[in-house]
Amino acid sequence: MSAAPVTSPSRSRDGTAASLLNDEERTRIRAKSAQFAPPAAALPDGRRDLVGLSREELTDIMVEIGEKPFRTKQLWHWIYHQGATDFSRMSSIARPLQEKLAERFIVGRPGVVTEQTSQDSTRKFLFRFRDGQEAETVYIPDRQEDRGAVCISSQVGCTLSCTFCHTGTQALVRNLGAAEIVGQFMAARDSYGEWPSPKGDTPRLLSTIVLMGMGEPLYNYDNVAKAMRIIMDGEGIGLSRRRITLSTSGVVPMMDQCGAELGINLAVSLHAVRDDLRDEIVPLNRKYPIREVIAACRRYPAASNARRITFEYIMLRGVNDSEADARELVRLISGIPAKVNLIPFNPWPGSSYRPSTREQLERFANIVMDAGFASPIRMPRGRDILAACGQLRTESQRLRRAERTDTAPDPAGA
Ligand code: SAH
Ligand code: SF4
Repeated sequence: MSAAPVTSPSRSRDGTAASLLNDEERTRIRAKSAQFAPPAAALPDGRRDLVGLSREELTDIMVEIGEKPFRTKQLWHWIYHQGATDFSRMSSIARPLQEKLAERFIVGRPGVVTEQTSQDSTRKFLFRFRDGQEAETVYIPDRQEDRGAVCISSQVGCTLSCTFCHTGTQALVRNLGAAEIVGQFMAARDSYGEWPSPKGDTPRLLSTIVLMGMGEPLYNYDNVAKAMRIIMDGEGIGLSRRRITLSTSGVVPMMDQCGAELGINLAVSLHAVRDDLRDEIVPLNRKYPIREVIAACRRYPAASNARRITFEYIMLRGVNDSEADARELVRLISGIPAKVNLIPFNPWPGSSYRPSTREQLERFANIVMDAGFASPIRMPRGRDILAACGQLRTESQRLRRAERTDTAPDPAGA
């Protein structure tokens, strides 16, 4: 295994200083993240949710109730390989123990508020968690093949306020817990009946995960990391780290940690090639400027020619879509195993941007492509069910708020 860039002792003095700085930053980010911690994964009657626990935690719990540690393996198999939610279905476990488990625990799922399927087969879920908070998950099937990507949310709302993103106009409500993050994927698998988990190279319908839903996953790193470890565990869901992509707006210190610990694919929401513009449209740039974001990409350990970093670039008419921008982009990322995902802007009520013209998109894409980078234009999917990036969650919220005022006043004042 390669050494983690996080605290590598072999670094130059400058490098070591940078690592220490990053350590401080990580501590600060974690402390802030803890203020938005999710509620305990348990029912009001005290029964705990077994979903979202690490193997070690599950083992501790078994020992606590007087059971042998090997029960972890059995339970893990039923929960994550078979997809069982009912202890009475766990046939390798004797009935008295099934009953004992059912008295103390549940195998939970988020509640499905709505599930809509688009004409292009994209399926959008609005999930409600135990405290009533909601998040959206989208399944985007491949047009040609029997596989597809599940787009998962990591937070309810977002602390960042990228000017083109409607989610960014909503305050961060809270982080999602590991159970809620894994639960989005498991509930989507329930919807397609994809249990037991396909083994090895057996094709999967829900074949990849993109952490590109609501929120900034690297501001909820611990829960996201725990959830991804559960999903990657070979005795359960067993999804390869090569099939998981985390999208970040550029939380540099956590990019290092993510690469060193999880080794999943990285997508970076770059969106601008000059600091003055990126400061404005991705305000996190004021903290971690382009130079630092690109440097973190260069040292990202999981990147290789086979596993390229994705640079996401939203195409805003007359703002960031000139040919000079395209040339600067190519210069910035030269030498990085990368592809550039060009995202046509999805307008939302009140947004001041317009999407780039088709011609400009193509001119931009050609410059990037001629420099040797794949530059697919990401076509909006599921428009008829409001499944476009940055729009959907807000629509759902507004609708739901209207529904609530139609019926009864909201005691929480939400
Ligand atoms: N917070 C993370 C991941 C969630 S956003 C991040 O910013 O990377 C996922 C992607 O949706 C980002 O690349 C973001 O730039 C894009 N996005 C947000 N609003 C959009 C809009 N109105 N139109 C198109 N893409 C949008
Ligand atoms: Fe948050 Fe990503 Fe939207 Fe920016 S683009 S506001 S980081 S969800």
